[in-house]
Amino acid sequence: MEFELTDEQKMVQEMVREFGRSQIQPLVKKIDEEKKIPDAIIKGLANLGLLGMTVSPPYGGAGADPVTVGLVAEELARADFSCAVPTFFLVQCAWGFILNKYGQEEAKQAILPWVTKGEAFIGIASTEPDAGSDVASIKTRAEKRDGTYILNGEKMFISGLKEIMNQLPRGGGYVTLAKTDPAKGARGISLFYVPLKGTTGITTTFLEDWGRKGISTGGFALENVAIPETYLIGEENQGFYYAMEGFDLARAIIAVVSSSAALSALHQAMDYMKIRKAFGQPIARFEALQFKLAENWAKLEAARLLGYKALWTYGLEQKGEKSRFETTKLCAAAKMLAPVFAFEAINDAIQCFGAFGYTEECPLHLALRGVRSYYWAEGTLEIMKIIVGRELLGKDFIAYR
Ligand SMILES: Cc1cc2nc3c(=O)[nH]c(=O)nc-3n(C[C@H](O)[C@H](O)[C@H](O)COP(=O)(O)OP(=O)(O)OC[C@H]3O[C@@H](n4cnc5c(N)ncnc54)[C@H](O)[C@@H]3O)c2cc1C
Repeated sequence: MEFELTDEQKMVQEMVREFGRSQIQPLVKKIDEEKKIPDAIIKGLANLGLLGMTVSPPYGGAGADPVTVGLVAEELARADFSCAVPTFFLVQCAWGFILNKYGQEEAKQAILPWVTKGEAFIGIASTEPDAGSDVASIKTRAEKRDGTYILNGEKMFISGLKEIMNQLPRGGGYVTLAKTDPAKGARGISLFYVPLKGTTGITTTFLEDWGRKGISTGGFALENVAIPETYLIGEENQGFYYAMEGFDLARAIIAVVSSSAALSALHQAMDYMKIRKAFGQPIARFEALQFKLAENWAKLEAARLLGYKALWTYGLEQKGEKSRFETTKLCAAAKMLAPVFAFEAINDAIQCFGAFGYTEECPLHLALRGVRSYYWAEGTLEIMKIIVGRELLGKDFIAYR
């Protein structure tokens, strides 16, 4: 067993830490208030080769391994514990990876270089107004007609919509789930890349979230949207399985992001505990606070390591050296624990600040609201438990069948 990073990974870690410290951290409040990641940060991430870094070099990516992606995400979350920048990063790493792996050459050439340059966003559009956890029950349809697919339906609670419509010069789009054979449930779902900006038949709505406000969410309706055949990702009716592969990667990164955001909050609390005095001594001397700190740190470190184990396993699974089931179980387990440990740790950290902790000036509420989004996004805590239970007990005991 080896916990040491390679020299290259250490270099990347150091580079992103410095970028985060100097370019992101000072702007975290502004990002939340203005509900937007500044263009300069997006350009900076692209210039460092971080956006869509899982994408292969011919399309501008670095072909980065999952552990290195985790290291980058960890540094971004350390800098922006509101989780907007790390989410902007991780969503594109996961779904850029899926398009890179299963997409057709023409689509990859047309889309991925803009993603890696930070000029377009790529995300995931699975959730619908009436179907979230139960992905197999989505209603969006795709019908093949004269060399195109015609899509009809609606997607909701989708990250990155404003970035595509209003911010990035080339817009972007979504790896989108749609039914090509509705009678077959999950086995009748296909994946398409749907470009959003300027596409006839798309209407968008924006939502106001109460956390990680720097990255938007919203919905879009598709009315007879024509998508070229080349934007079908992989084989028809296999989309559910490709999507699950993308979710696994996103979930493992989220585990690292949640732990890192919370550890960042813990460090701020520790600094405060050393200088704030009560009853004639620094509050850091009180065991009640130390014990909470110790417990939370240990839980976060455990969740962080489980996240890295999931990422490491994901990398091996891609080379055929680990099973898909083992990978899925670890990714779900990490995603099941980390956001909860993080939320509880940040809540305890805020407590150390006394009344100041309840003011807007104390920034930890940004982290609290940010990590809370991961109770749902990329699969809820409950669904993570169902996945882990399924992998432990076997398919005969699946509750939803
Ligand atoms: C900030 C944010 C960003 C998001 N970004 C995206 C995105 O970019 N793309 C995208 O496609 N989606 C996105 N989502 C949506 C997210 O994937 C869904 O919220 C999630 O899959 C749950 O779906 P739902 O909200 O419809 O809840 P539902 O599926 O309606 O579930 C409601 C509740 O019931 C629970 N539940 C459901 N089934 C079971 C069961 N069998 N056993 C026990 N409990 C169950 C759920 O866990 C949940 O607590 C985002 C969500 C958030 C909050």
